[in-house]
Amino acid sequence: MANHFENMNKQLNKAFSKIEISKEEKEILSKPKETLEVNFSIKMDNGKIKTFNAFRCHYNDARGPTKGGIRFHQEVSKEEVEALAGWMTWKTAIVNIPFGGGKGGIIVNSKKLSKDELQRLSRAYVRAFHKFIGPDIDVPAPDVYTTPQIMGWMMDEFNIITGKYSPSVITGKPINLGGSQGRGDATAKGGFYVLLQAIEKLGLKKQDLKVAIQGFGNAGSHLAKMLFDEGMKIVAVSDSQGGIYSEKGFSPEKVLEHKIKNRSVINFPNTKNITNNEILELDIDILVPAALSNQLTEENADNVNAKIILELANGPTTPEADEIFKGKNILLIPDILANAGGVTVSYYEWIQNRTQEYWELDDVYKKLKKVMQQSFNIVYNTMEKEKVAMRTAAYIVAIHRVLEAVRSKYQ
Ligand code: NAD
Repeated sequence: MANHFENMNKQLNKAFSKIEISKEEKEILSKPKETLEVNFSIKMDNGKIKTFNAFRCHYNDARGPTKGGIRFHQEVSKEEVEALAGWMTWKTAIVNIPFGGGKGGIIVNSKKLSKDELQRLSRAYVRAFHKFIGPDIDVPAPDVYTTPQIMGWMMDEFNIITGKYSPSVITGKPINLGGSQGRGDATAKGGFYVLLQAIEKLGLKKQDLKVAIQGFGNAGSHLAKMLFDEGMKIVAVSDSQGGIYSEKGFSPEKVLEHKIKNRSVINFPNTKNITNNEILELDIDILVPAALSNQLTEENADNVNAKIILELANGPTTPEADEIFKGKNILLIPDILANAGGVTVSYYEWIQNRTQEYWELDDVYKKLKKVMQQSFNIVYNTMEKEKVAMRTAAYIVAIHRVLEAVRSKYQ
């Protein structure tokens, strides 16, 4: 299996070669500051005790408290969490919000848990990690298979342990527990704003651009609706069970209704079922990986036909595939820019929790749009100036900002 952490370091090294940076500084940026690993147990519905392996990583906190989601997945590992925490460090720097990078996870197939078991698991995670998180230390959020409801349970557990109301300990909460307007679709919205910029730069006509989206969860399904509403044609989407394809396109809202009823997008009327590999190789204009990492590799990159790849997922492309896409002149908008809308609105939630002053949806979107457009422009201009791929340009921007903070501390 590809090593996420190694991939992140390969991406970092490409950018280091364009920056004046010492060996010692490279070492600070290439390693996580600290990772806590805990085995904790909960009682299952059948009365048996089950033990879970869980992690939380603080990668770099030079620019502020660490920030990043918690993932519930059977393939979570320490090295994956550390790579994801590293990516959060670069992401918060690109959108220039005052946070560092963190990430957490539990090795679990949460689909097999009852709602009560899921609640006990979520609360037990906070009991295990409560000294390692906090509004000014490390602020978790949702990620794969974690939801606003889970964030609400986690906040409540933290408040019980500390004996005070601290909604800013975690973001992505339900609105009635201190969540922000617009957080639910913020990752997709941020990706949407940068994609529109890219379409304009390439001189493409929005109408009838064909889109395929791998992963139809929070990020993927919201983006599908936004692009459909802009007149683009959603021709394929997929989830963990497989995908669907129709050359004519379909309504993502109808697919979502179908998925809620049948627990998958597959077998949607008037479409053909396809595999999660086939969806990456269709004849389309825009490809959006919005599921898991390491999906675009040296094995399939040559068969990708898109003009633009928008990485809503974290780490969907391996360094080998990056090289192939560069050779094919595909504009790849990297994860650390493309999906930064989520953490940006998480920051807005954190501010609102601390000031107890809540914003309207329009204000959230307006601020997010400005940040995403500015971030896209600085990365795009760096790409043109340095003659590198957009990912390396994004790293250059991020590294400069993190380095400035690191250097100021040791001056
Ligand atoms: P989610 O749990 O809501 O959805 C995940 C989707 O991926 C589901 O549709 C699931 O069926 C599908 N999936 C799982 N395994 C798959 C497989 N092997 N092949 C194809 N599809 C598969 O998660 P999400 O929040 O939408 O996150 C998706 C990606 O976006 C992740 O990489 C996550 O790290 C990234 N991301 C999410 C956010 C956020 O705010 N939600 C922010 C930044 C990045």
